[in-house]
Amino acid sequence: MTEQFAELRPTARILLGPGPSNVHPRVMKAMMSPVIGHLDPDFVKVMEDLKRLQRAVFRTQNEMTFPASGTGSSGMEMIAANLIEDGDQVIVGVNGAFGTRFADCAERQGARVHKVEAEWGRIIEPDTVKRALASVSNPKLVVIVHAETSTGVHQPIEEISALARTHGALLVVDAVTSLACVPLETDRWGIDACFSCTQKGLSAPPGLAPVTFSARAMEAIRRRKSKCRSWYLDVAAIGSYWGSERVYHHTAPITMIYALYEALRVVMEEGLEQRWLRHRSNAAALHAGLGALGLKLAAQEGRRLPQLTTVEVPPGVDEARVRAELLQQFNIEIAAGLGPLRGKVWRIGLMGESSRRENVTLVLGALEQILAGAGFELSRGKALAAAQAAWATG
Ligand SMILES: *Cc1c(COP(=O)(O)O)cnc(C)c1O
Repeated sequence: MTEQFAELRPTARILLGPGPSNVHPRVMKAMMSPVIGHLDPDFVKVMEDLKRLQRAVFRTQNEMTFPASGTGSSGMEMIAANLIEDGDQVIVGVNGAFGTRFADCAERQGARVHKVEAEWGRIIEPDTVKRALASVSNPKLVVIVHAETSTGVHQPIEEISALARTHGALLVVDAVTSLACVPLETDRWGIDACFSCTQKGLSAPPGLAPVTFSARAMEAIRRRKSKCRSWYLDVAAIGSYWGSERVYHHTAPITMIYALYEALRVVMEEGLEQRWLRHRSNAAALHAGLGALGLKLAAQEGRRLPQLTTVEVPPGVDEARVRAELLQQFNIEIAAGLGPLRGKVWRIGLMGESSRRENVTLVLGALEQILAGAGFELSRGKALAAAQAAWATG
């Protein structure tokens, strides 16, 4: 072989986008642990403790709680493939990219999908779900995105859960961006199937999708008339590996399991409530600072996520150029808008390890400098003062 390939040398970045977030150093260290067999007694111990940690973070007693092998979307597909059969009626809240994705996923599993829509940037109103439930006979699932990462909207779940239950439907919640950032109460809120990821609020690399299924959801899976269309994501088969039988299905991604295990340990050591507070406090400072810069937040007031903020791009400012300068001059990654918000907003994430005071200060200072250079009129120094004031009172 004559061709030379360079050694990997990606720049370490400050990750303030919609994920991945910065990986906790303890997680990186855990990933250097020896790779052992997926049935090794040492690994089985890790699996058992991992399930208990995952239940604690999801706030559930659900027996069927484990990570799916694949990124957050694999959790979405697992839930769709196992809970949907041909012709099932599925109601999906669509107010952003991820509700849209679930609707697509459900359709591919043969569901009759009924979209309940809201403008991107606003929550799904429970009343619209109520109307959909009343007009659909025998609804099987109601699907809702808890934290819409494409818009920065924080969706209330409880009222929709009560409606789903009244109509005998199972409630599915996309918690990919919400787990370990904002309160999520799987059992108390009556969630039947919930999925997340490793690379957002948990601050591990992307690669697993923590999922949990209620007893009601498992009963629906047992009562299926047809086989799950996905061999790889078949919950009944994977349950035999994660349960006491330890039947080989597919090789567990050992190193990623270590990463998730350590990430969950870090979360529980900080304390879930403490972690939610940290996200809220740093977001309040970021929002105050952005306001002081003269920027407008795009998501519905009172329904904004602390871990993902959408900011309107001011008229005349080159959206992509600001992001490029943040990356080149400050080593900071933020993200562009998706779908209808493309070119109109920036998305700033403060997720997990990335939700730190110094990151808020840095991104505000960097934006101030870049926007001033781009001819945007602002008064210097106000953003940091506003952030400090928010921390002082919060
Ligand atoms: C990121 C995200 C997903 C998809 O997760 P991947 O890890 O990218 O597969 C699904 N839903 C929401 C709300 C997300 O933010």
